[in-house]
Amino acid sequence: MRPFEYASPSRKSQAISLLSATWGNSEILAGGTDLLALMKDDIVAPRRIINLKNIGDLRGVSSGAEGLRIGALTTLADLADDATVKNNYPALAEALLEAASPQIRNLATLGGNLCQRPRCWYFRNGFGLLPKDGAGKELVARGENRYHAILGNQGPAKFVSPSTIAPILIAYGAKIRVEGPKGIREMPLEKFFVIPHTEGEREHSLGPNEIVTDIFIPPASNLKAAHYEVRQKEAFDWPLAVAAVALQMRGPNVDSARIVLGYVAPIPWRSLEAEKILAGLPINKENAQKAASTALAQATPLSQNTYKVQLARVALTRAILKAGLGNTA
Ligand SMILES: Cc1cc2nc3c(=O)[nH]c(=O)nc-3n(C[C@H](O)[C@H](O)[C@H](O)COP(=O)(O)OP(=O)(O)OC[C@H]3O[C@@H](n4cnc5c(N)ncnc54)[C@H](O)[C@@H]3O)c2cc1C
Repeated sequence: MRPFEYASPSRKSQAISLLSATWGNSEILAGGTDLLALMKDDIVAPRRIINLKNIGDLRGVSSGAEGLRIGALTTLADLADDATVKNNYPALAEALLEAASPQIRNLATLGGNLCQRPRCWYFRNGFGLLPKDGAGKELVARGENRYHAILGNQGPAKFVSPSTIAPILIAYGAKIRVEGPKGIREMPLEKFFVIPHTEGEREHSLGPNEIVTDIFIPPASNLKAAHYEVRQKEAFDWPLAVAAVALQMRGPNVDSARIVLGYVAPIPWRSLEAEKILAGLPINKENAQKAASTALAQATPLSQNTYKVQLARVALTRAILKAGLGNTA
């Protein structure tokens, strides 16, 4: 590891003023489960680390008429254990308990989970987010791409967005709050994630001197929601496909749906087309399959990952059935 300065402020304003205005010079430390691995592997080499763990304002979960407010420093374990999350947002609780391992969930924070860097093996081996060979040709399309994107992959970004929590948060309609030298910004969580087009860009819209402070989820008592993951093994691992669904019902039919896929694109992938298909229909296997096929109709798999199209289609079919009927049969 290279030497670095370590700062541990107790106020948000101090943390923001310690951050550099350009990427690469400073990094935020929350639980450290991703950042420290990247530093040990020399993938990032910040000159200054700003530890957020002494900033009390960034912790905790509270609920009210407006819904749920989650401080960015709340750990995945604490969030999964929160009574309101378990009762009112059960699909979120399920997604949290499927992420990583108990040890990691005890350290990993929600803010860090949303800002964690892609698991792409080119990126993790020092080839960058948009890897190219010496002659400037893209590496992923011609190389080992079995875990890469099947949607949104027409530009140079072919990695998949790594958070398995983001899709269900987006399905529940979550917003994210960030704070920086110019003040506070709030946006729907789906707008936080962006597909980079040049190597210097990041995969989210956070500025280098901004911090994620809170996540807000609106009340969900009128929603039927589900999260479904396909993994190679049941032990802790990153999934191959994730589907998250939230349905607002009118009688036996879907009034409106929010459908988000994970691990298929460089951002959590919302399918407005599939949402339109489900509107006005009852939930049954035929309609779930129709919506899932529509969501995957635009897939452009790479040389080694055509199998992910069918996996994502099945994951989404099952998530829709699980949300609407309570089972995947
Ligand atoms: C074995 C293993 C299995 C895993 N499985 C899963 C899984 O199934 N699903 C899943 O979603 N994740 C999984 N993860 C990833 C894990 O969830 C993340 O590493 C963790 O959530 C990151 O949170 P952290 O608090 O440790 O972040 P850190 O490591 O401290 O930070 C991660 C990144 O986010 C930035 N950051 C952190 N907090 C903030 C903030 N408040 N504002 C702005 N930037 C911030 C940091 O600068 C850094 O770039 C797994 C990790 C491991 C090691």
